[in-house]
Amino acid sequence: MKANVYHAPKDVRIETVPDPKIMNPGDAIMKITKSAICGSDLHFYRGNFGMDEGFVVGHEFMGVIEDTGKDSKLFKTGDKVVAPFWAGCGTCHNCENNYPTACTGGGGCFGYGEAFGGYGGGQAEYVRIPFADATLEKVPEEIEDEKLLFLGDVMSTAYFCAERANIKPGNVVVIWGDGTLGLLATLSAKLFGPSTIITIGHHDFRLKLAKEMGADITINSKNEDPIERIQQITKGNLADVSLECIGLPSAIQDSFKMLKAGGTLSFIGMFDEDVSFPMLDFFLKDITVTGGVCPAKNYIQKLMPLITSGKIDPSMIITHDLPLSETPKGYELMDTKDENAIKVVLTP
Ligand SMILES: [Zn+2]
Ligand SMILES: [Zn+2]
Repeated sequence: MKANVYHAPKDVRIETVPDPKIMNPGDAIMKITKSAICGSDLHFYRGNFGMDEGFVVGHEFMGVIEDTGKDSKLFKTGDKVVAPFWAGCGTCHNCENNYPTACTGGGGCFGYGEAFGGYGGGQAEYVRIPFADATLEKVPEEIEDEKLLFLGDVMSTAYFCAERANIKPGNVVVIWGDGTLGLLATLSAKLFGPSTIITIGHHDFRLKLAKEMGADITINSKNEDPIERIQQITKGNLADVSLECIGLPSAIQDSFKMLKAGGTLSFIGMFDEDVSFPMLDFFLKDITVTGGVCPAKNYIQKLMPLITSGKIDPSMIITHDLPLSETPKGYELMDTKDENAIKVVLTP
């Protein structure tokens, strides 16, 4: 099959690799119909994060069941399914506790190298799904792939960030980031009925989309100081909630400055380094801090009614749909933001 193989920073290539095979009785083989390049793929692409040379990457994908092992009972050939980015065994303590992302029974992240379980990725024609019954979710035939694909990662992750921030009607919510997570967090925050959503970024073309996705006010941090502006907007009362969707240490630190007493910081940005924490602000303002990797599996069915009813349309972030053969160009676009790229999806 054809697949996207990592070689070195800024060097991924479409190559012919062996077709994945059923290795364990609980496995399934998925024929991929749509996959995506995730912002977290840029971590290894830019060399900020180690990746094994020769590894098939990609962890945001969906497709149809091609084949199943003898212990895989829930799915049959032809079923339309979404895979969360992390496979879980379904039986260890953490999986039973609804944290497949902390699976101790052999689970792992797709397409993120040996250190994360060694499971091949989904920027490919086919992928092996371990623990298929515990990992995959069946999705409606009649809904377009583009609206369902991101349930496996960015849509669920963004919603998880907003949900954990405990947004109440009338709240002022600040979102850090105009990338895919920031945009989908903007869309998600809106569902909780805040009075004002303020999205901070530094690309006008993305901030324009943030407005279409629910932001009342956008701040381009290249042109104005976000803290000053938020003070102005809230007449000095500051914000109730901060959603950090970048993985930028200064956004964490600034969140403590722009949150009011009793406020909440929820972060989903992926940090490659430790971040120092203003403990005195945290203490004196009674800030609640929450953050972590999203157990996306739990959100696929939960968010489905929002998609089937048309209440949210995650496909709004797609700017490019490229054939799998052009995946390296897709990485370049995501990295450079040329052609106003936001989200690149791939069709095998
Ligand atoms: Zn991701
Ligand atoms: Zn497990």
